Amino acid sequence: MPILYPGEHLMGTLMRAIQRGVTNDWRDLVPGDLLEKGDFYPSHVLRPIYAATASQYTGMSISVILSEHSLWQYFRSFLPGQPETAPPHTQWHQLYNHSRILHPKRQVRYRHDKQWRWCLACNQENYKQYGTCFWQVEHQLPGVAHCLKHPEVKLQGACSACGYQVKDISVKSIKLLPENRCPVCGECMGAAKSIPDHPFIDWISEVSVELLTKGAQFDTQQVYSDIFAELGFNPSNFPSVANTRKITTIRKTIDVTFPLDVINWFFQAKLRSNYRQDESVSPLCLRLLYHRDTFVHPLSWMAICWAVLSKYGDLQRYVTPWIGTES
Ligand SMILES: [Zn+2]
Ligand SMILES: [Zn+2]
Repeated sequence: MPILYPGEHLMGTLMRAIQRGVTNDWRDLVPGDLLEKGDFYPSHVLRPIYAATASQYTGMSISVILSEHSLWQYFRSFLPGQPETAPPHTQWHQLYNHSRILHPKRQVRYRHDKQWRWCLACNQENYKQYGTCFWQVEHQLPGVAHCLKHPEVKLQGACSACGYQVKDISVKSIKLLPENRCPVCGECMGAAKSIPDHPFIDWISEVSVELLTKGAQFDTQQVYSDIFAELGFNPSNFPSVANTRKITTIRKTIDVTFPLDVINWFFQAKLRSNYRQDESVSPLCLRLLYHRDTFVHPLSWMAICWAVLSKYGDLQRYVTPWIGTES
């Protein structure tokens, strides 16, 4: 296996291995009964291929590799039980409902989960230093628009020439290039898409970076109790007619908290289609938060938190050093 470059996404390393002929197909690495159908998005929390790839590195612990080479630290606050490190992979299936938590089909509505993104400046620097470009974990943070290392550089997620979004890096012909060229068609790329100007977008960036790189935790327990205290009902009493009415009103409020361009920046209903003005935005549905054993995407947590609680000021109080779960 190729060495893991600093900050490289484990799946990017795997793809370099395939390009070098270590294996022909990533599916060969995963035992048949664990083989997931599926697309090669950057957004999976944990999946058998992560363990299978990490276990190729003898002498390195899988959980350490996942901490440094996947979005684990970003996602862990939002998993049931808030595990600090990834549990042994033999327990993943038993601990987390696979289709709902680790490989959530529901994530189809989160725009940035679908595409692998990159920074042109990082590509050039990496090529100079390592002789190759590679897919970096921090560029895959959902909803983060700029490179952390080069705050003035917008992350690229689609080619301005062919329009292609890189959804699956297991396609062999896809290659990051040091020049300003599309990894798919090889054409020169134009500027990245413009980003709506909204404080929520800045806040998401700030929080996401703290979660991934500074060992921070999003205090979902506190957010949960503050949200429902503010809304004035106890979700465990659901359903009652009064609560259902309340929820409908609240849902509308949450849906209109963000301008349409901001909603479209984070969420999408279907590929390349936009939300209509009167359409409810399902990733912002409060009901998601009721089932606490389910994985709710960080973007939904943060968006609902912002919609309900930002009028009280600094939401940074919900981003704490890692404390784990109290219970
Ligand atoms: Zn960069
Ligand atoms: Zn292209």
